Amino acid sequence: MEYKYDTHVHTFPVSRCGRAGVRETLEFYKSKDYDGIFITNHFLDGNLNMDPSEPYEKRIEFYFSDYEEALRIGKEIGLKVFLGVEISYKGTDFLIYGLDKQWYLNHPEIMEMEKSEELPFMMNEGALVIHAHPYREAHYIDHIRLYPRCIHGVETINAWRSDQCNDLANYYADSFGFHKTAGSDNHTGRNIPKLAGMISDEPLMDESDFIRHVLADDMRLFTELNPVDEQDPS
Ligand SMILES: [Zn+2]
Ligand SMILES: [Zn+2]
Repeated sequence: MEYKYDTHVHTFPVSRCGRAGVRETLEFYKSKDYDGIFITNHFLDGNLNMDPSEPYEKRIEFYFSDYEEALRIGKEIGLKVFLGVEISYKGTDFLIYGLDKQWYLNHPEIMEMEKSEELPFMMNEGALVIHAHPYREAHYIDHIRLYPRCIHGVETINAWRSDQCNDLANYYADSFGFHKTAGSDNHTGRNIPKLAGMISDEPLMDESDFIRHVLADDMRLFTELNPVDEQDPS
C-alpha cells in the first residue's frame, strides 16, 4: 500500500494569502486519495491574518484555530490532519514539524530571536526544521538567504516553484547531505494546477512518526498534475 501526504498546506482565514477554507481544502485532498495533510499556515512572524499588535496568546489561539477545525473535519471525512508551522524572516521560510500548541504558548520568546538562534532552539526542542523553497525569488524578497547550519532538511520539490528553483534546492540538499521533503504550498484548495507531496509504505501515525521517516529518508517525493486555471497567490 502507498499512503500520500501533502506536507505544506495553507488555509483561510488564518493565512492571509489563503484562498480556500479548511473544509474545502480537506475535501479536495480526500477526493484525491490522500491519507493526510499537514496544515502549515503562516506563523506570527509571517502572513498571519491578524493584527500584530494583538497579544501573543490571542494570536496563538487564532493561529491554531484553522488546524483545530481541520482536526474535527478530518475525523468527520476520514482524512488525517497533522500540524506544521511555517515561520518566516523577510520572505525566507521554514517549515517546523513536531512542536505543538502548548509549546508555542510556553515560548513567546521565539518572537524576539534571530532565526539563527530560533531554528537551533527549535531543533533542540525536538522539532524537524525544513527550509521551504530556499531559492524562491519574489518582489518582496530582497535576497536569497541560506541557513545551512540550522536545518535538518530542504523542501526540494515545491509545486509552485520553477524547475530551476527546485533543482537548486536539490543540489543544495545533496551538497550538504540534507534530508528532502516535497509539498504543494497549497493556498487555493482544489484550484491548484500541480500538487507535490510524499508517499510512505506505511500510514503515518503522528508528527513524530513523520519526523522519523524524513530522517530515515524512506518516503518518496512526488508531483501530480491537477489541471485548473489559477495564478500563484502567495
Ligand atoms: Zn507556505
Ligand atoms: Zn502564503
